Formats: sequence, structure tokens, C-alpha cells
Amino acid sequence: MMRIRGAWLLAMLALAACVGPSREKPRRPPAHRPPPVAKADDPRELKQCLADLGKYGAQFNVLPDRWFGNGCSATGAVQLVAIGIPVTNLGAMKCRTAERLSAWTNEAVQNAAMAWLDSRVVKIESFGTYNCRPRNGVAGAKLSEHGRANAVDIAAFQLADGRRITVEKGWRGPDANVRNFLRAVHKAACRRFAIVIGPDGDAAHYNHFHFDMGADGPYCK
Ligand SMILES: [Zn+2]
Repeated sequence: MMRIRGAWLLAMLALAACVGPSREKPRRPPAHRPPPVAKADDPRELKQCLADLGKYGAQFNVLPDRWFGNGCSATGAVQLVAIGIPVTNLGAMKCRTAERLSAWTNEAVQNAAMAWLDSRVVKIESFGTYNCRPRNGVAGAKLSEHGRANAVDIAAFQLADGRRITVEKGWRGPDANVRNFLRAVHKAACRRFAIVIGPDGDAAHYNHFHFDMGADGPYCK
């Protein structure tokens, strides 16, 4: 009896998360969809990640797994609804990337803002998450982690006192406190994400921080 109930529960979980292996043959061949290059995520890891994400008080929707052309996919992904403060332009993100973003925002960003800028951050501006393109948009380059919904680009921070801190103007700008704040949140991101690239990383990142949870890390520049 327990075994049957356990199997049923697993089946329901797999259905809910859209990641479990299906025992049924598909009724129609998925001709409209190229064969996936990325496997569906480990359901146990995903379950743990969703629980971790909930610990930060994040509100989110679990998205169905999707595979696109050119090797792009969004599996084990969530749509963040709220992580304490608004973050603009967030689309599909793999759960662990979303969970790391929530941790970074709630722990590191607010602490650094109070320490260096004496104000809370009330909004973070991102350049987005999922984007099916090669790295740095260079044709022929390896697929960007954005193409796997595994990355997020952070461009600016709006403060409670009305200031708007941008990576572009602040990183090498005249205000030492702003420079220190941006370096503090960059460094804090390196402790939380696999790969962090900012303005010192390369010319393509002159105006944002790139964070991802790709397998090529750790990298912090
Ligand atoms: Zn990026």
C-alpha cells in the first residue's frame, strides 16, 4: 500500500514539476520541437532548490520545462514574483540561479547599501535572464548560460533616498562610496554564483554584472 502511494506521489510530483521521466510513449512525435540537448533537471535537486527559495520568502511560479531551437532551454526554471524588493525584467530562471539571486539581494545588497550608501535598495534593475544567444552575442561562440535560463544581468540599483546607482557610471565613477558599494556586491556575488563578470571582466560587461550558475565556474572578474 505504502509502495503504491509512494509511487503515486512520485508520479504526481513528476507531473507537477514536468521533469520526471515519463513511462508512457508520447502519443505524437514532438515534430515541432528539436531534440533536447539539455536533460531535465534532477527532481530531487529541484525540490530542494524550491524549498531553499521559499526560505528567502521568495514568491515564484514553477515553469514547465521548455526546449527551444539552437540548443536553448529553460528547464527546472521559475518565474520570480517577489524577492523582497522588485527586480525588473526577470524572466525564466533556473531555480538555483533564482535562489542565489534572492540570497544575494536580501543579504549582500542591503548590507552593502547600508554600509556604503546609508540607504536601502528599493529596486534592482536587470537586463534580463533567458536569452537564446551565444556568449557576448558573438556568432559561433559557445552558448551563453542565458540560453539555458541560467544567468541574470544586473545593471542598476535604486535607493530609498532617490539615488540610482548604475554599474556603467558607478564602477569607475567619481564617488568612492558608490565604487565601494558596487565592488562589495560584486564580491558578494562571487561567493554565491559560479560565474560573475563585471566591467573589469571584459568590454562587453561595461554596464552590468553577469551572474550565472554554469559549469565553467568558479570565475570572478
Ligand atoms: Zn549575462
